[in-house]
Amino acid sequence: MSTNLTAELVLDAQAELGEGPWWDVARQQLWWVDIERGRLHSFDPTTGSDQTYEIGQRVGTVVGRQRGGLMLAVEQGFAAYDPDSQTLTVIHDPESHLPANRFNDGKCDPAGRFWAGTMDMSSQRRPSGALYSLDSEGNVAKHLDQVRVSNGIVWTADTRTMYYIDTHTLRVDAFDFDNRTGQISNRRPAVEIPADRGKPDGMAIDADDNLWVAHWNGGCVAAYDPRTGQTLARIDVPARQVTACAFGGPQLDQLYITTARIGQDEAALQAQPHAGGLFLAHPGVRGVPAVAYAG
Ligand code: ZN
Repeated sequence: MSTNLTAELVLDAQAELGEGPWWDVARQQLWWVDIERGRLHSFDPTTGSDQTYEIGQRVGTVVGRQRGGLMLAVEQGFAAYDPDSQTLTVIHDPESHLPANRFNDGKCDPAGRFWAGTMDMSSQRRPSGALYSLDSEGNVAKHLDQVRVSNGIVWTADTRTMYYIDTHTLRVDAFDFDNRTGQISNRRPAVEIPADRGKPDGMAIDADDNLWVAHWNGGCVAAYDPRTGQTLARIDVPARQVTACAFGGPQLDQLYITTARIGQDEAALQAQPHAGGLFLAHPGVRGVPAVAYAG
C-alpha cells in the first residue's frame, strides 16, 4: 500500500545540475547547489527569492556550520565558505592526485562530522571514487573506495545505522554506525530500487527513519521502509532527472526537491520545461533537523 503525491514548482531555476538541498533551521531558508555551474543558492520561501553565489569551481553539496557560515564539498576538496564575504577556504583535498574526480553529495552525521564522497567526472564513471569524512578537528578519514557515484547519505535517529547510495549499485545500503568513533561496518543491502524507477541519487530521512530517495531518470521521489525494503509512497516530479531532497519549512513537513537539465536534448527539455527547477511536496510526514558541521 503506498501513497501517490505530486510535487509543485517553487522556483523555475533552470539549473544545469541542481543538488545538495540543506534546510537552514535558523534562517528558515534552503541552501542548494548547481554543481556544473559552480553555484551555491539560497532560497527564501517567504519571499520566493533565490540568491546566487559564484563558487568558481564545481560544488557537490553544502551544509551549515555550527560556528556560522557554511561547509562545501567542491572539486578541490572539503572547504569552508562564508556567504557574507563570499570567501572560499579549501581545508583538505584527499584526492589531489585524482584530477578526473570531483566531490559530489554529502551531509553531516549526528556528531557533526561532514561526510562527502567523490566520483569520476568522465563518462566511463570508473570506480575511482571514495567516501570520506571530515571531523571537527579537521581530520579526514576514508571509509569506502571503489565508489562510482557517491550520493545520498543519512543516519537514523538512534545514530546506530547509516544509509548510503552509490548510484550505480541501484541500491540503498545500510551500515552499522559508531557515533563516538565515526566508524562504519557490516555493509548490507537495505533497499533494491525497482527497475522502472531510474537510478537512486540523493536521499532524506524522516522522523520514522524511513528513506525518501530521489530517482535520476525516474521522475520521482520514492519513500522506502529500509527495514523491509518496501515502497511506502511516491511523489511524481515533472522533471525526469530528480537529484536530491530535503525536509524543510517551519514544521519540517515540506519536502524540497532538486532537479537537473544536463545532458537532455531539445525535445526532452520541451516535454519538461521546468527541468532544473526546485520543487516542493507535502509528504504527510516530518523530517528531522539537518545537522551542521561541528568544526
Ligand atoms: Zn546526487
